[in-house]
Amino acid sequence: MNHGFASLVQGGSCEPFHWEARPLGSQEVRIHITHCGICHSDIHLIDNDWAISQYPLVPGHEAVGVIEEVGSQVDSSRLGQRVGVGWQSQSCGICPQCRRGHEHYCAQSEATCVHRHGGFARDLVVHQRFAIKIPDEIASAEAGPLFCGGITVYTPFKAHRIQANQTVGILGLGGLGHLALQFANAFGCQTYAFSTSESKREEALRYGAVDLVGYGSSTFQKLAGHFDFLISTVSADLDWSQILKLLAPEGTLILVGASPKPLNIQASMLINGARKVAGSVIGNPMDISEMLAFCARSGVRPQIEVLPFAQVNQALDKVRQNQARYRMVLGWDVT
Ligand SMILES: [Zn+2]
Ligand SMILES: [Zn+2]
Repeated sequence: MNHGFASLVQGGSCEPFHWEARPLGSQEVRIHITHCGICHSDIHLIDNDWAISQYPLVPGHEAVGVIEEVGSQVDSSRLGQRVGVGWQSQSCGICPQCRRGHEHYCAQSEATCVHRHGGFARDLVVHQRFAIKIPDEIASAEAGPLFCGGITVYTPFKAHRIQANQTVGILGLGGLGHLALQFANAFGCQTYAFSTSESKREEALRYGAVDLVGYGSSTFQKLAGHFDFLISTVSADLDWSQILKLLAPEGTLILVGASPKPLNIQASMLINGARKVAGSVIGNPMDISEMLAFCARSGVRPQIEVLPFAQVNQALDKVRQNQARYRMVLGWDVT
């Protein structure tokens, strides 16, 4: 038997839940979970905001643990390895996207906690490709949020080849934004944080921002045309026309947070200066490995609050109310 915490109905609290452990496929590994981060997507799944949820629903896609059992075709040297699993836990392996190494764009992609039980569990079974080794330098509790929050904001730097001589603005200073700031700083970029919360100034500067800028402030106006890249982690509606004015010619606004309304942008804002708007979603297993190695070397770490799994509902409430500073992590052996 496996056990963990499940939301039994749409929008419900997470309750202790037991289910039959499934046998391992030949390429699968069973991971004994020690920690699992909480991501806003877990809340969306619990609330069935995307109309894809099935109940009982065991959330969790920032899972970290130790491989305790391997399938018949998995190298036994992986037994005892400390690994993590993010949003994605399977892809077809043979489509053009998979063959190019872009597994996260695979149309057959499977998610760790959609139509299967996720990481709020004692054990988790996934294909070995998606159980990714964690460098020794990164503690298990801190590794969790890197597997979804971390890779979400790391991928734009790689995909857009953001360079050290460039200026990057991070919109939103939360679970994603505080990691994006650290990555931008570690890559050597000149980095600004944009936030409505002046109270986060000290932390923004500590994470490497030159300044924390309020939307529409006088500093905001002065920074028009200044940015090579803006990375928006904000899931609220912003004045996108004003934001685009921050971009230098050929600058790019990259969205990783989803604005609830269609973007209200004049075509001329993009045409003049050849500015671009782009999106980005998680990352492939190779990039997750690369990001973990980069974090191990550079010191990029999530700021976390760890609670025992028994307090899962308190932790979820903090995420719901945007009170997490900046990422909640659940642990089995935490008191
Ligand atoms: Zn997530
Ligand atoms: Zn594929």
